This record gives sequence, C-alpha cells and structure tokens, in this order.
Amino acid sequence: MTAQYVVKKMAKIHCAKGPKNCKKCREYAKEKRYALLDTNPQENEMAARPMIELEVEGGEKVWVTFDVIAYFESMDEVKEYTTKKDIEVEQIIEE
Ligand SMILES: [Zn+2]
Repeated sequence: MTAQYVVKKMAKIHCAKGPKNCKKCREYAKEKRYALLDTNPQENEMAARPMIELEVEGGEKVWVTFDVIAYFESMDEVKEYTTKKDIEVEQIIEE
C-alpha cells in the first residue's frame, strides 16, 4: 500500500522526450515547482506514464506511475488547494 497523494518538488514535465532531446523540456527543467501527484491513477494500459520512486513504510522503495494533478509555486498554495479539494497529502518530497 503506497501513498496516493504526494507532493514533489520537481520540474514541470513537458513531454516524454526529456531535456536531452527537447528544447521546451530543457526550459521547464530550470524551474522547480511543487507538483501534486496522484500515484494511483486510473489504469490505462495505452498511456505511457512517467514513474516516480517512493519510499513506503519500512523504508522500502517502490516505483509507481503517477498523474500530475497540478503545479504550485509554494507549499502554501499546495495546502490551500488540498484543503479545498479535501485531498490528504501523505508524502512530501523535497529535492
Ligand atoms: Zn518536451
């Protein structure tokens, strides 16, 4: 059982090509934001999803797929949003 909602300080994701092969990805990579992630998205076999490594109870690390719900400039904005939407953030990952 892993956390469903996670906040991670990370660069915005533009596309699957990544910073090496895409100019827009390189631009996005410069700017870190707080991303609210749903790590238990609706199963969709056709969608290529990005993955994230999470530490679960007991210190075990697992890779999970995720959807980005929204990006925020600060933790205050994250809290405001999650309180309004009644979302319980279970893990905050600062890099
Ligand atoms: Zn890109």
